[in-house]
Amino acid sequence: MDKQTLKRDVVIIGSGPAGLTAAIYAARANLNPLLIDAPADAEKQTTPGGQLMITTEVENYPGFPQGIQGPALMEEFRKQAERFGTEFLETWITEVDLTERPFLLYTAGHTVSAQTLIIASGASAKWLGIPGEAKVPYGFGGNGVSACATCDGPLPAFRNKTLVVVGGGDTAMEEATFLTRYAKKVYVVHRRDKLRASKIMQEKAFRNEKIEFIWNTAVDEIFGTPEDGVTGVKLHNLQTNETTIFPCAGVFVAIGHKPNTELFKGQLEMDEVGYLKTSGHSTATNIPGVFACGDVQDSVYRQAVTAAGTGCMSALDAERFLDHLPVAMPDGDEITIEGEHITPDHKAIITADGHMFSNEPEVAVGEEQSQSRE
Ligand code: NDP
Repeated sequence: MDKQTLKRDVVIIGSGPAGLTAAIYAARANLNPLLIDAPADAEKQTTPGGQLMITTEVENYPGFPQGIQGPALMEEFRKQAERFGTEFLETWITEVDLTERPFLLYTAGHTVSAQTLIIASGASAKWLGIPGEAKVPYGFGGNGVSACATCDGPLPAFRNKTLVVVGGGDTAMEEATFLTRYAKKVYVVHRRDKLRASKIMQEKAFRNEKIEFIWNTAVDEIFGTPEDGVTGVKLHNLQTNETTIFPCAGVFVAIGHKPNTELFKGQLEMDEVGYLKTSGHSTATNIPGVFACGDVQDSVYRQAVTAAGTGCMSALDAERFLDHLPVAMPDGDEITIEGEHITPDHKAIITADGHMFSNEPEVAVGEEQSQSRE
């Protein structure tokens, strides 16, 4: 079967809060964005709509004083993106070629050519892969098992209850400390007798009277009922091999996140964990015309509202980038849509009033350029 070629000015990868906000902004700017998202796949942990699709009530997204269910919130985002004309394509991207513009994205049925690319492919919480952990109805995910204390910790099901946090890094310390605001007691179950977390986070957790540590221990299984959610876990002492049933009302898995950046390895700059690097106060990656927003470039805040914020930024960055691309005129001149002439070597732009400024990619994006014009 011949592949269909789609040519677009703005292509967005990912349909979480970042990708859909980028779509809303790009669509409202008449850029006819194409948003590509992966189909739902339990094994690959992909869900159109992103991580909020596996969250229950979201109480901290501004504008919803009574709270809103994660999937319902994403449905609203999506409707808003659709309303302004975002085109959706649900398919797996098998390969991307960012060596030159237009960038090329390959799927089973399409070759997508993109003048600008906004990457909002998110990050996935790492899971233990134990019985009882999967999402409802297969396990207690969303009904007592969570990977986000900020999202789920304040829910009534966890208030004044005994909770288990799994992990020994900064995320686990942060989650455990946060959960003590609501829980009766928080047990941190860690597979070694030493934490990986930074000293300051460790000390904060050690000082907290509501937190206790269970060392050299793995969680082998999560138990519960559909009505009550989680009721306990099977703990496994890795030194003695002894197993015990430990009653608790919730399990927070905090063993790290994995940014979804496999496709871009070797092409885009990433940190040692794989988060995409963006430059300064912008969403620009190391390749001009490629922008990254949301959890795929944020290992620190990881909130829906911050993802939406950077999604907005990336659409504005893409719009400005496109505005400054040269357009060929019938007389052979190349001008930008703001009426500026491009020098033949494309290295400089001459404004209508005769000023010349650089057209080098690094300054063609974001604020630096607008500042250099002033
Ligand atoms: P880390 O990779 O630092 O820690 C993961 C923890 O989970 C480790 O203790 C690890 O154990 C444990 N773990 C991993 N896999 C398993 C498994 N299969 N079973 C049981 N335990 C497992 O991830 P974090 O998310 O904690 O931190 C990621 C980065 O984000 C770090 O750089 C951190 O500093 C940063 N961060 C910063 C925060 C802040 O400054 N406020 C808050 C949160 C994160 P082991 O130690 O044995 O390998």
